[in-house]
Amino acid sequence: MTKNLVILGSTGSIGRQTLDVCERLEIRVLALTAGSNVDRMEEQCRAFRPVLAVMADAAAAEELRRRLSDLKIEIDSGDAGLLRAASLDGADTVVTAVVGMVGLRPTLAAIRKGRRIALANKETLVCAGELVMREAERFGAEIIPVDSEHSAIFQCLMGCRDRAELRKLILTCSGGPFYGMTREQLAAVTREDALRHPNWKMGEKITIDCATLMNKGLEFIEAMRLYSVGPEKVAVAIHRQSIVHSLVEFTDGAVMAQLGTPDMRLPIQLALTYPQRLPSPAGELDLFTCGALTFAEPDLETFPCLRLAQESARTGGTACAVLNGANEAAVARFLRREIGFYDISDAVACALDSVPLCADPTLEEILEADRCARAAVAAKFGN
Ligand code: NDP
Ligand code: MG
Repeated sequence: MTKNLVILGSTGSIGRQTLDVCERLEIRVLALTAGSNVDRMEEQCRAFRPVLAVMADAAAAEELRRRLSDLKIEIDSGDAGLLRAASLDGADTVVTAVVGMVGLRPTLAAIRKGRRIALANKETLVCAGELVMREAERFGAEIIPVDSEHSAIFQCLMGCRDRAELRKLILTCSGGPFYGMTREQLAAVTREDALRHPNWKMGEKITIDCATLMNKGLEFIEAMRLYSVGPEKVAVAIHRQSIVHSLVEFTDGAVMAQLGTPDMRLPIQLALTYPQRLPSPAGELDLFTCGALTFAEPDLETFPCLRLAQESARTGGTACAVLNGANEAAVARFLRREIGFYDISDAVACALDSVPLCADPTLEEILEADRCARAAVAAKFGN
């Protein structure tokens, strides 16, 4: 059970829900980090009194220092600050809840300190999963997934003696706000349409990824890395109700699933308390009112991002880092209203076609693949 916690990305959706769990379980929060949201960071610092608060943005850190001059909290900034928080002495668990590939180095830093990683930042595992898992093994750092699907699989595998008994991991997918729509209808959707997720309230980047189904593609790769399985052992099922959070099929044909109301505080809490289970604020699942549970195959023609991710998973090497880097760059443009919905998948496909790939990459090669993918997207859109 976690006693002393560091939260990377505390002002975001996962970060705030983590603090809610900490408050209920009286877990001590040692460090908080954010990008630039000074107002929320100030509030969190006053409520939780960490020893260290880090803003990625230097001007934001300066402003925070000014506002918190009455408290004894150290303020730091930039990549160095983030690394410092990730490897802070005295912490037993680090929640990685920053969005994007910026989480990679801090996650590695925490792993090298042997911390438990409560992992929400899926982009890190997508880009450098093999390297991250190898380092975790080497330094004896447990990686406990926060992502609801992977937490569900983790729970289904509790008590599984031998991973050879595992036949298939089945990731469920809500289908997002555009389920059932045609390519023609999707060509005209806006940022606002895409941000309207039917079942979950999350940060903007992941919400767009849910609309394109890239989120499920990233989770497909995340599952392969977390559970050391090949792409042929991961399947995706559209499940509109978000009640069954994922399933595991075993060699004898038995299928285990984890069900619950859609509330991220359950997987977040489990990642902090495992192997213990404690009462949580997640609502009780009422089987008699939750309605019919349905499952369908994903439409890879209308949602090409999922197909591109599955292809990258099969290619391996730096392909997943290119996929992720191009997607991050394209989604940022879509959020700034610079490009349309299908420009996201087009940009990812274009980066995968143009960036040279390499097998079994080093950290430097992964970072370079990410840079090249972003450059390919910039070149495609003319800056
Ligand atoms: P949010 O956008 O809500 O929060 C992101 C956090 O990262 C904020 O604290 C933000 O700070 C910080 N941040 C942003 N940019 C930087 C940067 N360049 N350097 C350092 N910190 C930065 O995202 P979510 O909480 O929704 O998601 C976080 C991660 O968890 C993602 O990888 C996502 O895929 C994953 N995840 C999220 C789920 C959810 O339900 N939200 C479910 C499963 C996985 P600031 O507020 O200052 O911008
Ligand atoms: Mg998920």
